[in-house]
Amino acid sequence: MEKAESNLRKELFYRPKNGYDRIGTEERLALEEYCKGYMDFLDCARMEREAVRYAIREAEKCGFRAYTPGQELKPGDRVYASNRGKALTLAVIGKKDLSHGAMIAGAHIDSPRLDLKQIPMYEQDELCYFRTHYYGGIKKYQWVAIPLELHGTVALKTGEKIDICIGRDRDDPRFTITDLLPHLAADQMKKTLAEGITGEGLNILIGSVPYADEENDRVRLAVLSLLQDAYGITEEDFLSAELSGVPAFDVSEIGFDRSMIGGYGHDDRVCAWAELKALFDLEETPDRTCVCILSDKEETGSDGVTGMQSAAFDTFMEDLCETQGVALRRCYEKSFCISADVTAGFDPLYPEVAEKRSESKLNYGLAVCKFTGARGKSSTSDASAETVAFLRGLLDRNNVVWQLAEMGKVDQGGGGTIAKFMANRNIETVDAGVPVLSMHAPYEIVSKLDCYMTYKGILAAYRA
Ligand code: MN
Ligand code: MN
Repeated sequence: MEKAESNLRKELFYRPKNGYDRIGTEERLALEEYCKGYMDFLDCARMEREAVRYAIREAEKCGFRAYTPGQELKPGDRVYASNRGKALTLAVIGKKDLSHGAMIAGAHIDSPRLDLKQIPMYEQDELCYFRTHYYGGIKKYQWVAIPLELHGTVALKTGEKIDICIGRDRDDPRFTITDLLPHLAADQMKKTLAEGITGEGLNILIGSVPYADEENDRVRLAVLSLLQDAYGITEEDFLSAELSGVPAFDVSEIGFDRSMIGGYGHDDRVCAWAELKALFDLEETPDRTCVCILSDKEETGSDGVTGMQSAAFDTFMEDLCETQGVALRRCYEKSFCISADVTAGFDPLYPEVAEKRSESKLNYGLAVCKFTGARGKSSTSDASAETVAFLRGLLDRNNVVWQLAEMGKVDQGGGGTIAKFMANRNIETVDAGVPVLSMHAPYEIVSKLDCYMTYKGILAAYRA
């Protein structure tokens, strides 16, 4: 009788299991190996342009070539198209033509950070600073008193571009935003977390030595003089620059068991790498054309020429369709898209915001999210039951450890991804990605097992 009951429980209850109870030694080794590659990518690619360069370099090693519109394509061909160096789409041409649709995975490679204002430099009391305008959703108090690097590009009037990366090398200088010492913070400490550090207060300290024999702004002049020597730029060149302060933390394993990874920008480079690696690892020509999207501007709403709302993606897909004599709309309506983005992992330190039954948990694998949005599912594409069922079947058939995820309690907040912009194109789309702790903080945490299962899930989709 007792046994019958326990069988009934097993049969009827939905009880996800910890991934470590589901995988064997071989997969444990495979996930370690996979995560080494990811950690290198994360360490090197701190901005979208760096992620694109890294991805192209690795893609070319795997036989991908830059796509030129109109070029002949045959099954098995591997192509990529860079959108202005800030977003990237890669494809492996399938055996069936695009009237059968494409298998698409889309992630984003921009992360929250501190963009410099366009006239950023100023001097105050003989210290020099950069003014910033934060990019994406941040808790401002987390960005003071940590080491920062400076990354980005200065575009000159001549058309020349100067890439800047200061702080990544061991010998490089770094930057920081100062905070008030506790001894004198009586007033500051009475403020709320939202008010204690303000957006206008996020000014990055960049120099202190004055230029000899000048009267005003001597430190600013000295810093500009250093920049002129190193990069040949003047203060006016900041007008057409995209420079950002990003956290200078190295990527590292977390925990005695080394089971997690800490680093800046897991959101969403952890899914970007999973897609890339899955595409690279397609040994046989897939049935359907497989597409990997690394998009920009997700953290600010996917607007702009390099965001997922841009026609750049449609142009690339239409070009591929044209070479096969297929209408783009026919391709889209048969396509499937995994919007590969991170989810809010359940954090035992903050259970009050979570709906524990349906929150993604570390080590429970790829987190599939039927809907995102906020306040009554507003602004979500909300994948259909059929779409989720298709993915469920696919993941189970391929022994992918996965879980269903929602984002917090009803009316606690919410978020969005590129999913709705893909679904609005008439492409069946569902969100799935890696659970993250401390999301959008300068130092985010993911589990190695979840990283690997996201790769494995996307690879299964590409092979489907
Ligand atoms: Mn994201
Ligand atoms: Mn985000």
